[in-house]
Amino acid sequence: MRLIIMGPPGAGKGTQGALLSEALDVPRYSTGDILREALGEGTPLGREARKYMDAGELVPDDVILGVVGEAMEKPESAMGFLLDGFPRTVVQAEGLSDLLEKRGLKLDAVIDLVVDDEEIIKRLTARGRDDDVLGTIRRRLEVYRAQTVPLLAWYAGTDVPVLTVRGVGSVAEIQGRILDQLGR
Ligand code: AMP
Repeated sequence: MRLIIMGPPGAGKGTQGALLSEALDVPRYSTGDILREALGEGTPLGREARKYMDAGELVPDDVILGVVGEAMEKPESAMGFLLDGFPRTVVQAEGLSDLLEKRGLKLDAVIDLVVDDEEIIKRLTARGRDDDVLGTIRRRLEVYRAQTVPLLAWYAGTDVPVLTVRGVGSVAEIQGRILDQLGR
């Protein structure tokens, strides 16, 4: 299976994505995790990404598409994959669609995790990652609305199904809803 999991910051993409990747036995590629790892190692990618991440802005599309292109080169990704936190812009979605087309592959579904803003702010202020400070959280939510939400309409114009899943409840309940929608 080839899936995308999207939703605002704090929607539970990481948690649900990790469980889903295990349940479906496909690798999970989280662009946020890859960037944080690069940042921790002080690589050129990490150094470039830092200023955007700290400000709650998106890392430039060409940089991100490079990261995802590399992931797609891994033999393990031939079995399928789950993309977490990517694509985040229409340009990235188009880039992904090109990467897949070149390989004769298609996405099976986009999972859209829905959580309202009040709950998001509550969750993120409790989480305490470096970019989880109120100003940055607000900016990440704004960026999500302005740049990532339009992807839902973009995918609606393709033959990839968009599965809307309510992201509130216990981790197990939400996972159950996702698997249900996937027919698993
Ligand atoms: P995340 O862990 O998915 O919330 O990502 C944390 C930060 O990494 C974001 O606020 C962005 O600065 C950057 N980032 C992660 N994925 C992407 C992406 N697909 N496009 C642009 N920036 C990204």
